[in-house]
Amino acid sequence: MEIKTSPFWWEFKDWETRPRSAPEIPEKLDAAIIGAGFSGLNTALVLARAGLKVAVFEAGAFGEGASSRNGGMVGPSFHKLGVLGLRQQFGEAVANEILRESVGFVDHIESFLASENIDADFKRRGRFLGARSPAAYNQYARMLETLKSSCGVSGHMVPKAEQGAETGSSLYHGGVVFDRDGGLNPAKYLAGLAKRVIDAGAAILPFSPVSEINRTRFGFSLSCNGKTIQVAKVAICTNGYTGAQFGALRRRVLPLRSAIIATEELPETLMERLMPRQRMYGDSRRMVAYYRPSPDGKRILFGSRATSLKEQPSANAHALRRMMLEVFPDLSATKITHVWSGLVAYSFDHSPHIGQINGLYYAMGYCGSGVSRASYFGQKLGHKMLDQHQEGRTAFDALPFPTRPLYTGNPWFMPAIIRWHSLLDSFKL
Ligand SMILES: Cc1cc2nc3c(=O)[nH]c(=O)nc-3n(C[C@H](O)[C@H](O)[C@H](O)COP(=O)(O)OP(=O)(O)OC[C@H]3O[C@@H](n4cnc5c(N)ncnc54)[C@H](O)[C@@H]3O)c2cc1C
Repeated sequence: MEIKTSPFWWEFKDWETRPRSAPEIPEKLDAAIIGAGFSGLNTALVLARAGLKVAVFEAGAFGEGASSRNGGMVGPSFHKLGVLGLRQQFGEAVANEILRESVGFVDHIESFLASENIDADFKRRGRFLGARSPAAYNQYARMLETLKSSCGVSGHMVPKAEQGAETGSSLYHGGVVFDRDGGLNPAKYLAGLAKRVIDAGAAILPFSPVSEINRTRFGFSLSCNGKTIQVAKVAICTNGYTGAQFGALRRRVLPLRSAIIATEELPETLMERLMPRQRMYGDSRRMVAYYRPSPDGKRILFGSRATSLKEQPSANAHALRRMMLEVFPDLSATKITHVWSGLVAYSFDHSPHIGQINGLYYAMGYCGSGVSRASYFGQKLGHKMLDQHQEGRTAFDALPFPTRPLYTGNPWFMPAIIRWHSLLDSFKL
């Protein structure tokens, strides 16, 4: 069977009606948003509804970026540093505020989808994280306790003897469940969001790469497809796709490729055994493995970091299938129907960032967890651009956006780090 290299998510009727060609680009705008993912479209929605003349510039086809390609797993995306690391890096007060705000991300996306009447197959089924060693289980237990006491996260530990109720995998030494996490179809969400943005009066312009931005007396001038557009305010929402023309931001993010495979439809009894509660799943490995059932519960989608920044579908399919079989050996005869990938953006302090640099607004650096964060940050960014300080405020405002000396945006060292992580994982270290 030939493996498709487009996302499984794109196979629904309404994807065909996504914005396909650029309407005439206006010469003057109140606001230009660069990047038509969750960040950019959420920003545009807030601005358009406030009556601004807004256009969203998208370099490629609509859905080109990570927002229609991700795992669709929705959670608070607690800081990769852990609670203690957060406190050490940013101080207790900021850290606690970040944690409390993050707990609300899933509620935010759930109520946004409901209020906008966007059907994105959102389901709140919880997330199970499997511990690959007894030490990892103890670490999860400590993490859960700290999260419960600092921000009231809802979750429970699942000892190895009881994990059959959570997973059909025998790889783990128990795990932790976060009850309030959920999953959605990201392409359905993106397409529904685009409709709301267009209904609000903004233009979405696919195949409109912004190649240059210059400051002017009244704001900025943008170059796109040989045209110059005068704009009062600009938001850069390019995350893992941030190019050299946005050098100050590119120096602050590390683009990494993440890839996913989808299996063929599986027998109901097998799905019930492997994923009895239809949760979102992950585990304690450094390489980051994330997997889940498709929204109809018939397939398994399995993702991880790709070892190369380049798009390499067959190498990704091979590596992901191997990882999936380590978790679920029962799938050895199962066919892979889809493999695809996209770019995420890590930051040097493992935290997402929002703010202004050289007069340009930005939101990015979601470190691979951007479904809820980009949606939330996008709306906050819209309020910031409207000078609505209270509505636009977030605990993340307090974080400086660091770079490193000599780093210009090419993470040439990451493939070696990823291979090192993979080696440590193989020893369960
Ligand atoms: C395979 C994969 C799996 C993932 N799984 C999850 C998950 O399960 N849960 C989760 O929370 N997060 C996940 N993520 C991360 C999440 O998808 C991203 O963090 C989020 O979509 C970022 O949204 P964004 O709008 O900031 O950026 P994007 O959606 O990446 O959009 C940026 C856009 O900017 C455009 N652009 C760049 N330069 C220009 C320019 N010069 N002019 C015009 N346009 C430009 C790009 O073409 C791109 O479309 C995953 C990501 C990937 C790739």
